[in-house]
Amino acid sequence: MNKKSVAMMNAARAYSLEDVRVEEMPLPQLEPGDIRVQVSVCGVCSSDAMDWYVSRKVPVVLGHEPVGIVHEVTPEVGDLDVGDRVFFHHHVPCLTCRLCQRGLYTSCRRFRETSLDPGGFAEFVRVPAEIVRVDVLKLPDEVSDEAGAFIEPLACSLRAFGKIDLLPGVSVWVIGAGPMGLLNVRLARYLGAEPIVVTDPVAIRREYAEGIGADVALDPGAADFDEKMSEATGGWGAEKVIVMPGAVDAIEHGLAHAAPGGVVLVYTPTPPEATVAYRPHDLYFKEVTITHSYSAGPIETRDALDLLASGEFEVEDLITHRFGLDGVGEALRMAKTHDDSLRAVIYPHGLGVEVKAI
Ligand SMILES: [Zn+2]
Ligand SMILES: [Zn+2]
Repeated sequence: MNKKSVAMMNAARAYSLEDVRVEEMPLPQLEPGDIRVQVSVCGVCSSDAMDWYVSRKVPVVLGHEPVGIVHEVTPEVGDLDVGDRVFFHHHVPCLTCRLCQRGLYTSCRRFRETSLDPGGFAEFVRVPAEIVRVDVLKLPDEVSDEAGAFIEPLACSLRAFGKIDLLPGVSVWVIGAGPMGLLNVRLARYLGAEPIVVTDPVAIRREYAEGIGADVALDPGAADFDEKMSEATGGWGAEKVIVMPGAVDAIEHGLAHAAPGGVVLVYTPTPPEATVAYRPHDLYFKEVTITHSYSAGPIETRDALDLLASGEFEVEDLITHRFGLDGVGEALRMAKTHDDSLRAVIYPHGLGVEVKAI
């Protein structure tokens, strides 16, 4: 094919977290079973801004929380049509291996091998056949594009909450009140947890947490922290601890204040070389469990969509910033610290441009 005849599109390609360039690239071409989606909006995740993770992948088009309009389908695609408004996942399991049979979809070897082409911070994305078969969901009218951009993050939270068996009336401690921490505070409230304690060193984030349903928001560095934590949990410590930052000190802090019989859930990966020191003696006699939750599978994405469609769970108010592709660098800077923002979303076709079927 004459190269010049290949249609082009724009995408934001990261060469590092500090160097993101909007570049032209060929419109991704489809293989049998694939679809191409015109991206309406894509959320920016803190994990897009983890140095150790991004430095392994650069140059890369990030963005894994997208929704869009189906732009082209191949004949092998059954139940999707051009013009459908969809969420599409960036990873899917094989559904047949031993791990998948046990429901450990995100541990499936195929899961991390599957991906979008190129990524959500692009005008168009090729969704490979394997993903089309397992985790592309049509959006009902009651789920807006911006709410749809929360399907992936909310699915991750639903998976995490499933792992810690969150029943009404248990105490929850969310360490870190960034946008995902706040989403988890809201989910804990929705599921009936009580009390909900949040810790964050940044005062404005503690205020957000209280505004969103936390009973107590504490500064983890305060001199009277131990006393306050004990007071907030009736002297028991927190029964379910959700550690948001992928940081050793946060995990250690969680382990130190978990209640007897409590669970400490590590929500975000640490850098590969990080190690956590703990005293088995203490955890043994308190029977404290440490567990992890990685990403979300096709069951949780459907559950997340259902929850959003129910109208009982608000998410769009967590969006504080909206950018076109030229704002991806700024959005990643914000996502790295969340000192001055909650969630940012990217509109690859530009702010105010209505994306509709072409
Ligand atoms: Zn994410
Ligand atoms: Zn599998």
